[in-house]
Amino acid sequence: MPLEFRDVIDEMLQVPNRPARSTPPPIRLSQNEMPWEPSAPVVAAMTTAISTAHRYPDYHRAAAREAIAAALQVDPEQVAVDNGSGSLLHGLARLVCEPGVHGVFPSPSFEAYRAALSLAGADMTPVGLAEDGAMDLAAMVAAIRPDTRIVYLCNPNNPTGGLIGVDGLRAFLAEVPSSVIVVLDEAYREFVTDEPVDATMALLDEFDNLVILRTLSKSHGLAGVRAGYAVAAARIAEALRRTSVGFALNGIAEAALIAAFSPEGIAVADERIAVIVAERARLVQALSDAGVAVLPSQSNFLFLPGDAAALMARFEEQGVLARPFPNAGGARVTVGLPAENDAVLAALL
Ligand code: PMP
Repeated sequence: MPLEFRDVIDEMLQVPNRPARSTPPPIRLSQNEMPWEPSAPVVAAMTTAISTAHRYPDYHRAAAREAIAAALQVDPEQVAVDNGSGSLLHGLARLVCEPGVHGVFPSPSFEAYRAALSLAGADMTPVGLAEDGAMDLAAMVAAIRPDTRIVYLCNPNNPTGGLIGVDGLRAFLAEVPSSVIVVLDEAYREFVTDEPVDATMALLDEFDNLVILRTLSKSHGLAGVRAGYAVAAARIAEALRRTSVGFALNGIAEAALIAAFSPEGIAVADERIAVIVAERARLVQALSDAGVAVLPSQSNFLFLPGDAAALMARFEEQGVLARPFPNAGGARVTVGLPAENDAVLAALL
């Protein structure tokens, strides 16, 4: 008998794979990365960690969790770290999903929510966005059923950039049954300027079913290191830690994470975030002045509504690699260095 995959795996394999590009355009603004190399304190920490790479990392990740907890003013018991927030998204689905269980997520949004629910065997409902590219929370509440155990929120939403403020989130959480885990994916939270970055952390004191996910990949500029974290009620954080797959966060990445949360690491990240936020404002202003449609963004990327293929062709002419989202009706471009953003404007104006 031939080897058979699960049906859900066959379905995932039906989706066309991303084509490998032999010569991508040189200005890479397709993956919402930071444009700078890792900062000196992070490089130094990783370099030191290389010499202890023959040892397993600390099973409890105590130093990493303490560094995060100190920066966010939470208890280390509330923190779980893993090799990217993508892994934590899957870990959360594993905690509560099995066949017969249902999950809800925004769409268009980060594709991993669908994958996490599928792989965990859950049924699911994607919920469309509001006009401004933020989530439609009223519609998401309406999609919750008696068998719903998990809701993913993406805020700011990727790929559209729209944000729901903390009051909107609080009102939503008050309507969600406490038996449903709410995963608030804040991969881009540090780029938010509409309200204080840490405003959502207070929600953890009010809602035991809330999990906040953040990552080192975006604002800390460490996408290749693979590190992310969850902050939640201690019970959920412990379950995530104890069901994580092996020692997924490697020792060098753990050292990078600890350095990123040192005062020096945070200072460099803050400076760089400020550059991106200023450049975001410059781009939006220039595009709006010229009458080019762009969604409001609280993130480190912009979503241009329009024909995705035509937008990609214009970007490519200027040497810019953006990311098409034909199903969302547009293209997404990351905010980069000033000269890179000038190329974006040359493509669009
Ligand atoms: N959430 C969102 C919304 C993202 O856009 C991404 C990365 N593109 C992730 C989570 C995963 O990030 P990582 O696994 O690198 O932490």
